[in-house]
Amino acid sequence: MTDTHKLALNGGIPVFAGPLPTGSRFGAEELAELKEALDQNTLFYFYGQKVKTFARQFAEMHGAPAAVATSSGTAALHVAVGCLDLTPGDEVITSPVTDFGTVIGLLYQGLVPVFADLDPSNGLMTPQTVEAVVTDRTRAVLAVHLAGNPCDLTGLKALCERHGLALIEDCAQAFLARHGNSLVGTIGRFGCFSTNDYKHISTGDGGLLLVADETDAAKAAAFADKNYRRDLGSAMRRIDLLAPNLRMTELQGAVGIAQLKRLPSIVERRQAFGDGLRAALERIPGLTPMAVRPQDTCVYWFFTLTVDAGAFRGGRDALVEALKAEGLPACPGYLEEPLYKVPMLRNRTAFPGTNYPFDLAPLREPVFPGAEAYLADTIVLPVSEFYGADTLAGFIEALEKCTSALAG
Ligand SMILES: *Cc1c(COP(=O)(O)O)cnc(C)c1O
Repeated sequence: MTDTHKLALNGGIPVFAGPLPTGSRFGAEELAELKEALDQNTLFYFYGQKVKTFARQFAEMHGAPAAVATSSGTAALHVAVGCLDLTPGDEVITSPVTDFGTVIGLLYQGLVPVFADLDPSNGLMTPQTVEAVVTDRTRAVLAVHLAGNPCDLTGLKALCERHGLALIEDCAQAFLARHGNSLVGTIGRFGCFSTNDYKHISTGDGGLLLVADETDAAKAAAFADKNYRRDLGSAMRRIDLLAPNLRMTELQGAVGIAQLKRLPSIVERRQAFGDGLRAALERIPGLTPMAVRPQDTCVYWFFTLTVDAGAFRGGRDALVEALKAEGLPACPGYLEEPLYKVPMLRNRTAFPGTNYPFDLAPLREPVFPGAEAYLADTIVLPVSEFYGADTLAGFIEALEKCTSALAG
């Protein structure tokens, strides 16, 4: 008799015999768009049509006045903070559990990232945790919709209005996620997205920034383009302040146009997978799926679940090892450590030979039990638009098998 309950870790048969399903993300549509881009005989966004079309269609998809395309998601976030007219030493509140790209633009602008604690059930900043770190030096809140799960944007927006702060959304993991009836990226003054190769859609590298009005559209376009005001004439510029070159090329724009057509179905499949997994987890003792507020929709860039304290022998890490042996690529937490423990931020060494810009603001001791619990107690599971019902069934089988074997 083959024992299907015997863990693969102990020599049993793994639930997944081979790698998880994948598929092609690019096809004839991308190729046709690329050909058209090359046939324009220019790959510069201002002379061609691809980047302009990509940005316009993205804005239309969101009912936003305009969008500006950039060279990366990090660049989109840099442009957003670059448009706020802040002075080095000003503070911006953000999440300590995010891609490093969230804080890179802040530091280049001389701004000091101040971290807010997170809800340990989903790794999101909340109006309460943000409120707790607001001071008279705070100028903006950069909200991160981790894993595609919207933050409480209603609460954050009210807080920002109360304190006179700008709200920027980091939507890099949250394409087409909804907070109530609104798409994320349309509630803050800027909504920033990444189209790097790991995200819901890819242009290799790239980014997009939704803006709230035409004034910000012009400002963002100029900041991303060395101060050029190309809307006023191709060589118009007035250089009062430093602005980088964070432009997107026509090749990225071309692929982006084709990728946008795929986006709704990619999001739909990931949502169905995530919601299916969430429903199944209700029946598995010791595990709690990431909390999504009932009025919101999560687009699951990845899935996290919290392991209840003491539920399993060997705790969270033993469960991860057992799942991996079953062929389910589980990870212990989204990051190894929160951003404030990374040497650059801990030692305040963004630039050689100086503690700038950190030394422009008072030192704060990072005490974030919610963020640390989130990293210590959660398991990250992959989600993909190529996972269907069979893969979902396999995930559930592996989770049931490993949790019952390790229970106690
Ligand atoms: C991917 C990502 C970024 C950075 O995007 P890049 O295109 O890699 O620069 C920023 N924030 C979050 C939350 C991300 O996931």
